Amino acid sequence: MPTVQDTKLTILPTSQTWQQQLAHTINSAQELLNVLAIAPDALPFSAEGLADFPMRVPYAFAKRMEKGNLNDPLLRQVWPDIEEASTPPPGFVLDPLGEANSNPTPGIVHKYQGRVLLIVNGSCAVHCRYCFRRHFPYNDNRLSRQEWQDALEYVRNREDINEVILSGGDPLSSNDARLFELISAIEDIPHVTRLRIHSRLPIVIPARITHALIERLQQSRLHIIMVVHANHAKEIDTEVGDTFVRMRAAGIHVLNQSVLLKGVNDNAQSLIDLSERLFEFGAMPYYLHLLDPVVGAHHFDVSENQATSLITDIQAQLPGFLVPKLVREVDGRPSKTLIPILRNS
Ligand SMILES: *Cc1c(COP(=O)(O)O)cnc(C)c1O
Ligand code: SF4
Repeated sequence: MPTVQDTKLTILPTSQTWQQQLAHTINSAQELLNVLAIAPDALPFSAEGLADFPMRVPYAFAKRMEKGNLNDPLLRQVWPDIEEASTPPPGFVLDPLGEANSNPTPGIVHKYQGRVLLIVNGSCAVHCRYCFRRHFPYNDNRLSRQEWQDALEYVRNREDINEVILSGGDPLSSNDARLFELISAIEDIPHVTRLRIHSRLPIVIPARITHALIERLQQSRLHIIMVVHANHAKEIDTEVGDTFVRMRAAGIHVLNQSVLLKGVNDNAQSLIDLSERLFEFGAMPYYLHLLDPVVGAHHFDVSENQATSLITDIQAQLPGFLVPKLVREVDGRPSKTLIPILRNS
């Protein structure tokens, strides 16, 4: 059996810096199966899907998968299922959120009043197979120095913008020098009062949440909100939980958004466990997104009916503050769309 990879798995994740972990991810289906002690032909995958969106899984994330379990909820999120290449149902498209239309200047996505997305970095530490940005033209959003100036100028010229959201890709895959320079530039814009960071790195490579990063955020005059992205309680081991605790101790608000995913978290108990686990470490559930209808991800789709019935279920078992808002993103609306929960049962 895969002794070489096993050794690698035990050495890699714990001892390396976050930059090393980011540079040494699992990039092939074979390697992932090897690490999980799953026979090479036990789990078929879509070569077409991989050609479209390569595999990328940090060891620190793979470490939390259960060996030998073909249905592990973490594995499902990164596995290029054979279904990726099948014909999608009507409505599944390449750019479901129409972001290409709300891209006024490179690096900016401005759809909602008062807040603007800055696409800091096109790359992610992990490639989530359900990602709505799997076909986004990141390369057109890799900014030159001048374009950065223009993006910041856009925010400076719009006094109605009080919140900047660092997004991507994953904004925390940028190094500290770059990130801190950007944060300083945002702090210099007087009408901006909040800085939000949407990142999956606290989950997939928790070593990214260094003392230096927390210290820099703590020093900021801006209110800082970290929105992490976990879909299942098993993603939150004690190392991840500890990053939440440390961020909270520094006055950073920690929220979580998830995507409702068939085969991953589409049952009430999983969602309850996730909310409880988040809260255990001081993070609050924020959004539960319905899947964005992006080509290649239709096998994760959960119907709106099933979603509302799940929320009704968890609402009956959790305090209100642990129930995430069920939303869907509909192109052209002024905010995310809340899915109404009928409560006549
Ligand atoms: C989701 C999103 C936001 C943030 O919306 P909130 O409801 O404030 O979390 C902002 N801009 C874009 C383009 C978004 O997709
Ligand atoms: S981390 Fe976020 S942006 Fe990156 S692939 Fe996953 S869902 Fe998409």
